[in-house]
Amino acid sequence: MTIQERLTDIQKRITIALHAFEERQPVTLLAVSKTYGAEVVRQALSAGHRNFAENRVQEAAEKFPALRAEYPDMQLHLIGMLQTNKVRDAVALFDVIHTVDRTAVAAKLANEMVKQNRHLPCFVQVNTGAEPQKAGVQPDELAALLEFCRAEAPLDIRGLMCIPPVHTDPAPHFKQLAELAAAHQLPLLSMGMSGDFETAIQHGATHVRVGSAIFGERG
Ligand SMILES: *Cc1c(COP(=O)(O)O)cnc(C)c1O
Repeated sequence: MTIQERLTDIQKRITIALHAFEERQPVTLLAVSKTYGAEVVRQALSAGHRNFAENRVQEAAEKFPALRAEYPDMQLHLIGMLQTNKVRDAVALFDVIHTVDRTAVAAKLANEMVKQNRHLPCFVQVNTGAEPQKAGVQPDELAALLEFCRAEAPLDIRGLMCIPPVHTDPAPHFKQLAELAAAHQLPLLSMGMSGDFETAIQHGATHVRVGSAIFGERG
């Protein structure tokens, strides 16, 4: 299948998954292009796709400025861990940040957004599996981080994001994230990847992050 055919196929699966779910929220398909070259991304752009995600600032900085010059209406989402020394480049390069997970990053982001006059919508990443090695705020520390983002940073937090542990049923994680977002009146949910985006949609995902099902297995 071509990239265009895969994108069409995934959009169909999103529609079908939404039909089985009474809420029927709008779902944005983020094409995760990490490890793939600009040529492959360009195929998706020329097929009409506009929403992309990358997990490393440096890699995105090498790939996207030229593509954005050709397609100024594209949107780029950061879905990987953000180090404070990369915040300046991230604010310049991305349109949405999914991985706010600690006060130091939140404060730095807010500061940079004022400096660059680029006020990007953000998600807070939650470590729903409480995995020690994984990024994301612990669920029981979410309220305090959101309060910091609201009152101190300040940042425009629109939703929550999670990456469930591998080799486990993701559904309980999606359910937990949806409950946390509802409790904090956050409308957006970034959850679901190639293997589980339909399950995520059935739990209310508004942004699904799909890489290998569009671009093929990463090398
Ligand atoms: C790589 C990645 C994805 C996409 O994973 P696939 O299984 O290739 O769809 C989604 N979210 C994050 C945070 C990623 O790093």
